[in-house]
Amino acid sequence: MGRDALEAIYASIFHTEDALVRPQIMCGTHALNIALSANLRPGDEILSPVGKPYDTMDEIIGIRESKGSLSEFGITYRQVDLKEDGSFDWDGIRSAINEKTKLVTIQRSRGYAKRPTLSVKRIGELISFVKSIKPSVICMVDNCYGEFVETIEPSDAGADLVVGSLIKNPGGGLAPVGGYIAGKKEYVEMASYRLSSPGLGKEVGATLGLNQSFIQGLFLAPTVTAGALKGAIFAANVYERLGFPVNPDSVESRHDIIQSVELGTPEGVIAFCKGIQAAAPVDSYVTPEPWDMPGYDAPVIMAAGAFVQGSSIELSADGPIKPPYMVFFQGGLTWYHAKLGILKSLQTMLDEGLVNLSFVPDK
Ligand SMILES: *Cc1c(COP(=O)(O)O)cnc(C)c1O
Repeated sequence: MGRDALEAIYASIFHTEDALVRPQIMCGTHALNIALSANLRPGDEILSPVGKPYDTMDEIIGIRESKGSLSEFGITYRQVDLKEDGSFDWDGIRSAINEKTKLVTIQRSRGYAKRPTLSVKRIGELISFVKSIKPSVICMVDNCYGEFVETIEPSDAGADLVVGSLIKNPGGGLAPVGGYIAGKKEYVEMASYRLSSPGLGKEVGATLGLNQSFIQGLFLAPTVTAGALKGAIFAANVYERLGFPVNPDSVESRHDIIQSVELGTPEGVIAFCKGIQAAAPVDSYVTPEPWDMPGYDAPVIMAAGAFVQGSSIELSADGPIKPPYMVFFQGGLTWYHAKLGILKSLQTMLDEGLVNLSFVPDK
């Protein structure tokens, strides 16, 4: 009963016909893999009209050759990049849609890419355009980090499937694991057969005592997300005034909780992450170091001392050690903690001689 209630709550929040919300979904990548592999068949094609998707999607799709990828099952992939100014390449998208196109994947947040985050409004415009060319296409949105930042979700703007991780925004910091797939009944049902087994679908799967964390976390999620958002805006204001390129900037509207700061050097990225780690409630004594993390094509440094391992709604920062040496900051279960993290990052940069506070212009 609790499992059904949780899924009914997700469906009602996202205004979808159905939802699959389970602790058996290990993370966002797993949820995306389930949604894709459940709804695609050999001969089908995936289209990403918003450029290259998140790094861990490369190996799911087979953009980077990988054992078990969709490409091994004869599922092909096309990509249309955003234009230089971040706008959609409407002509490119129109000509990329063909008789094989079965699913369009739209990533709201930008991962480690240098491109604008998509507002729900822009996602809606893109979906309308795609459906005007081929109504039968499944429009799936990778909603990671976007939940509850706006008052509407991609499912309110025509998405057939929205997919995300419970150790980001919707878990509210309490969910210790899990992912969600919300959308049209037929596509969610297909996902349930892929997650468990054909014939079993949503009917099986213990909740292992986690329903309280999932539901209470969801209850807190809008407040936690608002605190994280405020921390991101604070970071943008601090680092912008120090002369670093920040994205989004200090004043523009936001559609996810991610803040990137272009520090320009590996030392800058490492120092920033050390400062965030030092502000952590757990493992603050640890020094983070870049490593070859599975799923990524460059060494990645990740700072997180979280109550839930891997949780990035908690205060965290990470970045691939490759040009232009950007760090991505997110989370903080409270605004005060996010603020402490940013100040600690600045202190570490200062201690290592990587910023000069005398350059701060008077405002
Ligand atoms: C975090 C994230 C994912 C999934 O990541 P996991 O670490 O597997 O939860 C997928 N797409 C985007 C855009 C993300 O930010």
